[in-house]
Amino acid sequence: MRIELEKAIQEVKRRGAKRVGIQLPDGLRRRAFEIAEEIEKECNSEVIISGNTCFGACDIDFHLLEEVDVLLHFAHSRIGTSEKIIFVEVSHEFEFSSLLSEALPLLGRRVCVTTTAQHLKALGSVKRFLEENGKQVILKRSRRTGNLGEVLGCDFSAVERDADLLFIGTGDFHPLGISLFAEREVIAADPLKNEVSVVNGEKIRRKRYLLISKCLSFEKFGILVSTKVHQRRLNLARVLKKKAKERGLKAEIIMFDTILFDALQNFDAEAYVNTACPRITYDDTELHPKPLLTPDEFLVILGEKEFHKISMDQMH
Ligand code: SF4
Repeated sequence: MRIELEKAIQEVKRRGAKRVGIQLPDGLRRRAFEIAEEIEKECNSEVIISGNTCFGACDIDFHLLEEVDVLLHFAHSRIGTSEKIIFVEVSHEFEFSSLLSEALPLLGRRVCVTTTAQHLKALGSVKRFLEENGKQVILKRSRRTGNLGEVLGCDFSAVERDADLLFIGTGDFHPLGISLFAEREVIAADPLKNEVSVVNGEKIRRKRYLLISKCLSFEKFGILVSTKVHQRRLNLARVLKKKAKERGLKAEIIMFDTILFDALQNFDAEAYVNTACPRITYDDTELHPKPLLTPDEFLVILGEKEFHKISMDQMH
C-alpha cells in the first residue's frame, strides 16, 4: 500500500497549518498514530484524529474541520471543493497482467474499464495491455470525482453500457453495482483474490423486485436522510413525502448523521426509503429487520414508476 503522505506534509508546511485534522477509513486506522506522529514531527503542528465514520469523500468530519486549519482526508477521491480539505491518495500496487490475460477471452473488442480510487494509477498500464491485445478501451469520466474510469458505490457514470465491462479491484459490491446499472455481466479482476470472475446482478435485481412487491400494501414509511453533506438529499425526501401523502400514505422524514439500524427499531414504519448512501440499501438490506427501498423503488409503490424502469440509485 502506498500513502502519498510526503506530498500532504509538503502541502501542510506550505500552508503553515498549525492544527491538522486527519480522517482515515477503517482499513487505515491502524496507521493513524504513526501518521499523526509523522505530521507532528515534520510540520510541528498539533494533530487531531477523527474517530467518526469515514465511509467515503461524502463523509467529511465537519466538526473536526471547524477545529483545524487543514483536514487530511485519506484514501478517497475528492468530492466537493472545500479548500481546507486535502485528499491524500492511497494506492495499492498489483501486477495485473496475469489477471488481464485470463480476462481477455471473456471480453469482446470494445471494453469499458472501471476501477476504484485505490487502483486508478494502474489504469494506464491496463489500457496499454488491452490495446496491445487488440481491444478498443473506453475510459469515461466519473461525474462525481472527475476521474477517468472511477466508479463509486453512488456513481456509475464512468460505465459505458454498450461496451463489454471490465472491473479492476477488490470485493463484489462495485462489479455488482456496475452490472445492475448496465444490466449486463461484468468481468471482475480481483487482485486480492487473484481471480477473474463473471459478475451478474440479476439475482439481486430479482430480490429487489420481491422486496418491492412485499411493500406494495404497506401504508407507513420512514424516509431516511443523512446530514452528511454529500449524501444529503433532503429535497428528494420532501418530494417523496409529498407524493406519498397525496396517495393517502403515512410518510415522515427521519434525519440521521450515520444511519444505524438499531436507531430505527423503535419507529413504527413498515418500511424505509433510503435517500442517503445507496450502498446502505443494496449492501445492508439483509441486516435490516424492515424493508429498505431506494427512492426509485418507492416511486413504484406510489404508482409513479413501472418495475422495469427502476434504475440503480445514484447520487447526482
Ligand atoms: S455516498 Fe456512499 S458510495 Fe458514495 S462516496 Fe459516499 S460512502 Fe461512497
